[in-house]
This record gives sequence, C-alpha cells and structure tokens, in this order.
Amino acid sequence: MKHISVIGAGTMGNGIAHVFAMNQHKVELIDVSEPALEKAKATIGKNLDRMVAKGILSEEGKAETLAHLNFTTDIPTGVAQAELVVEAATEREDLKLDIFKQLDAHAPQGCILASNTSSISITRIASVTNRPEKVIGMHFMNPVPVMKLVEIINGYATDAAVTEIIRKKSEALSKVPVVVNDYPGFVANRILMPMINEAIISLFEGVAGVEEIDTVMKLGMAHPMGPLQLADFIGLDVCLSILRVLHQGLGNPKYAPCPLLVNMVQAGRLGVKSGEGFYTYTPGSKALVVAPSFK
Ligand code: NAD
Repeated sequence: MKHISVIGAGTMGNGIAHVFAMNQHKVELIDVSEPALEKAKATIGKNLDRMVAKGILSEEGKAETLAHLNFTTDIPTGVAQAELVVEAATEREDLKLDIFKQLDAHAPQGCILASNTSSISITRIASVTNRPEKVIGMHFMNPVPVMKLVEIINGYATDAAVTEIIRKKSEALSKVPVVVNDYPGFVANRILMPMINEAIISLFEGVAGVEEIDTVMKLGMAHPMGPLQLADFIGLDVCLSILRVLHQGLGNPKYAPCPLLVNMVQAGRLGVKSGEGFYTYTPGSKALVVAPSFK
C-alpha cells in the first residue's frame, strides 16, 4: 500500500501526512481551503527541520519526505489512486458524512476509508457508503509525529481483514496500534473526558483552584500536565462536544458537561487557540503568560 490520501490539512491532517510521507508513501493532502494547505506545507517543513536538528532525520530524508507530498483542493483527483484514505476534517458529523459519500464515489473500489474522528460513530459514517466493511477508525494522537498510539476502531460492519491491514500499517509507521470497538468516545476519550470534566466540576464547586487541581494530578498521579491545562491544549469547545457525544450516546448523567465548561465555551474562552481558558497564553504559542487565569 503506497498511495495514501489525507482529507483535512489542519492540526491532525498535516501530522498524518507527515508521518506517511516520511515512511515512503505517496501522499495527497486534500483540504477545501488553500490557506490551510499552505499552512500545512509550512508546518510540515518546520517539523521536519526540527527532526533534522535533533538528528532523527537526514537532510536527504527531509527532501524525500517533501517530494512524497502533493497538495490539492480537489477530492475526486486527490483520491483517484488511493489505497487508503485517512479523513481528518473538522469534527462535525454532517461534514464527515458528506465527505465519506464523496470518498465512496471517487476512491477506487478496494480502497480502505479511515476516519481520525475523536468521537463520531464509525458505524454511522460507514452507513453512508457502499463499502461499510472497508470503513474503520484510525485515531492518531496529537502531535502525530511524536505520539505512539493509534486507536483503531472497528465499526459494526468492519471486516476483520481490514482491521488487520490497518493494524500492520500502523506498526509500519512505528506506531503502537490498539484495537477497540465502536461505542461513544471509544476508549481514549471515554476515559479522558470524564476526568477533565471532573476537574472542571471540582473547580466549579470550589473544592480547589486551577493550580491546586493541576498540581495534585501532575505530582500525585505523575501526569505530564494537569487536566485543566490539558483541556486548554485540546480546546474547550472540542472537550464540550466530545462530552455531549458521551452524554447523548451513553445516556448516563455522569457524562453531563459541567456548566462552567459550557459557559466558558459560550464566552469564547477556548484555551490555547483563543489565548484564554483556565490559563492565559501568548497568542500563537502554548507558553503560559499568566497562570492560572482565575481560581
Ligand atoms: P482542524 O480544525 O485543525 O483541521 C480541520 C481541517 O479540515 C481544516 O483545515 C478545514 O479546512 C478542513 N476541512 C473542513 N471541511 C473539509 C472538507 N469538506 N474537505 C476537506 N477538508 C475540510 O481540526 P483537527 O484538530 O486537525 O481535527 C481533525 C480531526 O481529527 C477531527 O475529527 C478531530 O476530532 C480529530 N482529532 C483531533 C485531535 C486534536 O488534538 N486536535 C486529536 C485526535 C483526533
């Protein structure tokens, strides 16, 4: 399998394209937005430079990786030769269903269609195609070139042979695959999001302040960062939408998003991307300038 198409050139899509291209695949990176493609090209270049500086990659390796990449805004031509498509477009169900209908119409018959969705049902996505047995979740973690895990999600109809191909492909990218079944939030977010939500509820109920909560979890549980700072990194809007998927999909009130999280998202305090969440950030950077922004 040499021809890969990646749909969406944002945070995840550029990382996924980077990793496949670095591992000798010809990659078509496809986005509706020209500026997003330009930005992805620059980000991949910068990340490859960092790898060269660290001695992980040679200058020739960098040139080869860049030569494996093609950028386009056209889905039909971009997937015409694909053996695997990895969709990493915006996390919206209507948008993903529309993209998968297009992929089904334009990708070769044998092509596997994977989604990097954090929470949308793979079975639902598969149901709009004529090849549900070839639809699977391939959930990379951020930042893709660094993080080892690929959570592979079997939809209800996914063929076992397809799962095996994606498991082996993930290993060939030097990742560690874990195969799970298709229920809301899969495993990663079903466990992570309630922890983040509980941290926000603890803040909301005045159990402790931002810094205290994060310090307990960092030093007490050996987490690399506290749950409130992690929520800022992920994006509070993204956390809220995943919690809503868990709450609706599992029907258990324990997943109800904390009212403080809902309020912060409504106020546009989205974390690193808006410059303010539980902490305050320098625009365009993950460095804290004021910690924490409130108690
Ligand atoms: P992002 O907003 O950074 O990028 C999304 C990209 O999709 C944008 O460039 C947008 O222009 C493009 N897009 C929108 N509609 C499109 C279409 N019809 N065709 C082609 N491109 C289109 O989003 P992201 O953070 O990279 O997330 C992408 C996916 O990965 C989501 O499903 C998300 O849940 C998942 N994910 C994100 C993270 C994370 O930490 N950001 C981690 C794991 C999984």
